[in-house]
Amino acid sequence: DMKQDVFPVVHWFPGHMAKATRMIKEYVKKVDVVIELLDARIPRSSANPVISEVVGEKPHIIVLNKADLADPKETKAWTEYFTTQGMTVLAIDSKSGKGNKQLVKAVERLSQPIIDKWLKKGIRSRSVRTIILGIPNVGKSTLINKLAGAAATRTADKPGHTRGQQWVKIGKNLELLDTPGVLWPKLEDQRAAARLAMTGAISDDVYDLESVMKQLLRQVKENNPNLLVERYKLKPEELDDMEQLLESIGRRRGCLVSGGVVDLDKARRIVLADYRNQKLGNLTLDGVDEEPVIIEDTIEY
Ligand code: GDP
Repeated sequence: DMKQDVFPVVHWFPGHMAKATRMIKEYVKKVDVVIELLDARIPRSSANPVISEVVGEKPHIIVLNKADLADPKETKAWTEYFTTQGMTVLAIDSKSGKGNKQLVKAVERLSQPIIDKWLKKGIRSRSVRTIILGIPNVGKSTLINKLAGAAATRTADKPGHTRGQQWVKIGKNLELLDTPGVLWPKLEDQRAAARLAMTGAISDDVYDLESVMKQLLRQVKENNPNLLVERYKLKPEELDDMEQLLESIGRRRGCLVSGGVVDLDKARRIVLADYRNQKLGNLTLDGVDEEPVIIEDTIEY
């Protein structure tokens, strides 16, 4: 049971979640536009369960990060999906900085109505402010550093802000809070939790490797069986049986213990590392057309 495996170690207990929600709501009050960072490989699984409550009515842009690791066709499908939902969405690769300029432009566009309103009211317009929200490991710090590094100046600490927090100028009239809002992932949803594990969003020692890898291998096999055949020098018929498949991979990779028995755990770790290092292709794990796993929300905020 993934839930039991994941929950006790990650320390996102209801109390922590309630506190994080309160803190981020305070942050969000200070900004005009919210940037929600998702992992392009798992746009549904990397979303926070209460994000809409946290964001409220603020203009909001969805950014699919790590697009370099995702399947471009799927990224396009997800972009269309969010657009159909009336969202502003953009795919980027914050590690290389690809898409960062478009992101700044998109946030500026989203904030234009706010600036227009200020002007109409005769308010001397100040800079528009934004914050990056997302679950751990989705790339928040990488993106902040890239955007801040590109910025010429950092505004000085102003009274009333949490010590150490700064607004960084990232556009003509745009400032970014240099501290991200850290949200918790969808751990109650077992399929999402497994995919978070596959992408490395949750720590390696808190989930059941066997069940996670069963799902990953199945998805790799469905998506691109040829990659598996080539990578592990398999005979096509070795893909027919899932149990057999892992054993065959282990055998090819010399994961043997005494008596010629395959060390399946070692084989699982090899395949997982290969997926994460893109040796098994740019595989997007969340499908737009998949039935979302609806979970009963038993946590009170
Ligand atoms: P945070 O916990 O959300 O602040 O995530 P980090 O910024 O620390 O990033 C987590 C890991 O993802 C790091 O190893 C980054 O180098 C990597 N990363 C971040 N953005 C990207 C991206 O767009 N593409 C790739 N390939 N890796 C990324």
